Formats: sequence, structure tokens, C-alpha cells
Amino acid sequence: MAERECVLPLPGVEHASADLGFAFHRTGRVRRGRACGQCGERQQHSRVSAARSARGQRRAMGLPIPTSTSLGDLAPAFSKAVTRFIAAIEAAGGSVTISATYRPPERAYLMHYAWAIAKEGASPTSIAAKAGVDIDWAHLDAKGRSDQKAAVKAALAMVNGYGMAHSAVLVSRHTEKRAIDMTISGVVGKSVSDANGKAMAIKSLKDLNPVGKSYGVVKLVSDAPHWSDDGH
Ligand SMILES: [Zn+2]
Repeated sequence: MAERECVLPLPGVEHASADLGFAFHRTGRVRRGRACGQCGERQQHSRVSAARSARGQRRAMGLPIPTSTSLGDLAPAFSKAVTRFIAAIEAAGGSVTISATYRPPERAYLMHYAWAIAKEGASPTSIAAKAGVDIDWAHLDAKGRSDQKAAVKAALAMVNGYGMAHSAVLVSRHTEKRAIDMTISGVVGKSVSDANGKAMAIKSLKDLNPVGKSYGVVKLVSDAPHWSDDGH
């Protein structure tokens, strides 16, 4: 699992700390809520080589608050459920690539308001502060005036750095440690055991949905990689 837990935070995000241009106070970056071994958003992440992950991990130390890809960062009951479900898929010859588990609320905050400033016209001076996130959205100068243009540009760089395609909600099953984004492959045409040990034929990926549910891992059908403990 070590490899899987160390995927790069996001496509392009390794450049983010240099490119974001955010006026992170004093420390030069957003204060981190979590240590490394973590990853970013859903979808296009894939496993990387051990050497590359080690580099990514070091780099991730300087990045704004990555989302985890570790099952160990999930709520214990859901972590156990997902672990069993994945084991059943792998026992059937399938494979699973995890792109997101726990998203720290601080990360959700950064994504949410970066999007609001960059894409929805929110005023950079109107963003409420969040405890533990030391960021100057407004790009205040020495006289306390906001550089609006720089603020919007930096917010856009953050949106791009995080690989965002739409806004991020502040509270989700990911921030509650109750969701996982994963890409499952190699199971169509095989049988996967459900939680009662019954072999379930998988003719298409959606046949995994009742199997996952038997373990307590519920599919959100509208969101391809997303599963949670209640389907939200
Ligand atoms: Zn998700």
C-alpha cells in the first residue's frame, strides 16, 4: 500500500507552491493541517513509482494541505468496510486505485474560496478567515490595501493547481472521513464475493454497487469514483 499512499497530490500541483503567488503569511505557505503520505483530488491520479512518490512526498510537504489517499485516515468503521471491499475486488483479480479519502476541512476551505474568487466573482476582501489556515486572500499591501488583480490571479492559479473542475463544498463525506474516490478495473467478467461470502457475477462495473453495499460501501452513482458510508 505504501506506493498507493504516496501518489502526487495533483497533476500540476507540484508547481503550485511556486506558482500560486499567494501571500501566505510569514511562513511562506498555508499552515498545514496534515502530514504527508497524502494526495489530492479525484480522478486522473495514478500510481507512481516508489522513487517518484518519495520525491512527490517531499514536495508535498510544501504544498497547501493535501487530501489523503490512505485508508487509515478514514473513520475506523468505514475504513474497515472499504478495506474488506477492496480485498474482495483484489481477490477476484481486480485492481483499485485510490485517488482521495480524507479531505481536511482546511483543504476544502482553500478550494472552495479559491473557486469563489476565481470563478464566481467573490470579493477577495470578503472571505472569512478560517482557524488554522493562514492565507491572505486579499493580497494586502503594506498599507492594507487589497490588490484585487493579484488576488484573482492567485486564486485562479490555486484552482488550476488543485485541478478543480467545479466548486468544492466545505463539508462533505470526504471531510467527515466517510468517503473514498477510487478507480476499479479488471473485475468485469469475474466474480466478487460479497460480505456474506456469496460470489457475485460482475458483468459491468455497476454490478459492484450491491457488492460494495453489502460491505457498507455505498456508491454515489452520479459521481464515478465516489463511494461513501451512506451513498452521499
Ligand atoms: Zn468523492
